[in-house]
Amino acid sequence: MLQVKGKGIGKGVAIGRIFFYDKGDQQVNRTSISDTAAELARFEEAKAKAQEQLGRLYEKALEDVGEENAAIFEVHQMMLDDDDYLDSIKDIINNEKLCAEYAVATTGENFAEMFANMEDDYFKARSADVKDISERVVRILSGASEISDLTEPVILVAEDLAPSETVQFDKSKLLAFVTHLGSANSHTAILARMMNLPAVIGIDIDPAWNGKQAIVDGYTGTVTIEPDDELMKEMLAVKQKDEERRNLLQQLKGKPTISKSGKKIRLYANIGGVKDTGAALDNDAEGVGLFRSEFLYLESEDFPSEDTQFEAYKTVAQNMGDKQVVIRTLDLGADKQVDYFDLGHEDNPAMGYRAIRICLDRPEIFRTQLRAIFRASAYGNLAIMFPMIISLDEVLQCKKYIEEVKEELKAEGIPYKDDVEIGIMIETPAAAVISETLAKEVDFFSIGTNDLTQYTLAIDRQNAKLENINDSHHPAVLELIRMTIENGHKGGAWVGICGELAADTSLTKTFLDFGVDELSVSPSFILPVRDAVINAE
Ligand code: PEP
Ligand code: MG
Repeated sequence: MLQVKGKGIGKGVAIGRIFFYDKGDQQVNRTSISDTAAELARFEEAKAKAQEQLGRLYEKALEDVGEENAAIFEVHQMMLDDDDYLDSIKDIINNEKLCAEYAVATTGENFAEMFANMEDDYFKARSADVKDISERVVRILSGASEISDLTEPVILVAEDLAPSETVQFDKSKLLAFVTHLGSANSHTAILARMMNLPAVIGIDIDPAWNGKQAIVDGYTGTVTIEPDDELMKEMLAVKQKDEERRNLLQQLKGKPTISKSGKKIRLYANIGGVKDTGAALDNDAEGVGLFRSEFLYLESEDFPSEDTQFEAYKTVAQNMGDKQVVIRTLDLGADKQVDYFDLGHEDNPAMGYRAIRICLDRPEIFRTQLRAIFRASAYGNLAIMFPMIISLDEVLQCKKYIEEVKEELKAEGIPYKDDVEIGIMIETPAAAVISETLAKEVDFFSIGTNDLTQYTLAIDRQNAKLENINDSHHPAVLELIRMTIENGHKGGAWVGICGELAADTSLTKTFLDFGVDELSVSPSFILPVRDAVINAE
């Protein structure tokens, strides 16, 4: 039995087999080979495996995001069988006598460049696709493991996980996350909590653990490899207790979220997509306080069209009935990267080109999303909010785009709701400090404590080395929250909190005393937070 200690960032206990998620050697070497027939056979085998994976991805996407979005995986399958593409790879292996990894990577780069230089927009967009399929084949050739190949649920162990990887995971195949890197407020951690899985970071992982039985204790941040019977018994008892507590909390369903002293708040859910509305409703969410719309972009291989987005927003709105759904506009950049945006390298991405800054700089992307949201507004109770605001000017620009989009829809005879509430996220000290001015321009604020902590303490939320001082309870953070709530009310805006801190029940009473109107948390935290509110004086 081996015990390793890290930091628990997703509560609960998981018992099962470890799957060591190895991304393979990303570096492609120009290695000479002598047996060209064997190398061609290696390539054919990898290609067949890639086709199989793409087939599975197509089926999964068809279920999750519909045919229009799933079609991209069919396009990838066709591209992988393209004669010119295959001839180029075979030519490099046969004539230059170089390894399959190099042949695929070089062909991928050449074809990507060729597509990128084409006039036609459709072909231009295929540049990212050919890169993508080539990377998939290289990954397979380098022996990287693919979670989509799993047949039973596992404890996923990895060096690090990017949000774009985590969103692709199938929850039914996962019991827990364990990583070496990562931080409590990273989006990967947030996704783990959204999936309601135990998660531990800061663990010195070992590939030799692959396939071994293990226990992940998200409460103490302990990972035990090949646990003995005694520990197994102890942990099964913890799991049992968790189950009992979960059952007890079920009694709070349908109850109002009101404190002993009569303070009533709205308890909303944070979601990442249509598929999370089930968990939100199951846990009795009173609305959706944060729909992280960028996950739609992270799950896509290309810009999601207006229609694709409209369908997603409309379905969420309809699923939630008359309950309010706050859609946050695209918050990409920093740790949330997608190839097709081509955001490029930045020395300091958290303080860089992200969120509303991208949207105001690339209005064609912004307008498409706004049109989709307003079209969907006719089907439920939608609200809209903008992330990473630092100035009044940004808010006014956003409102101007909204007016333009509404005019457009009106002229086209497309229905939309005229009274959609407009809000902003308070995630920067700048926004908190000028919140009284900003409140006069919007209907509501939603405090994003993850970023507010990052920018107040000047601590990159992704930096594992600073995890021990990354303290969301810092008095400066709490004072900015208090001040924002007070200023919001002065300016006539309601104020919610949607960062991870909203689910921290040790602060529930403090937030109530500050006068918060709404708390928005991952679905699995709704009933525990309701319990904390009900028990607060
Ligand atoms: C936040 O910053 O607190 C927030 C809710 O947004 P995100 O975590 O997606 O950056
Ligand atoms: Mg944020």
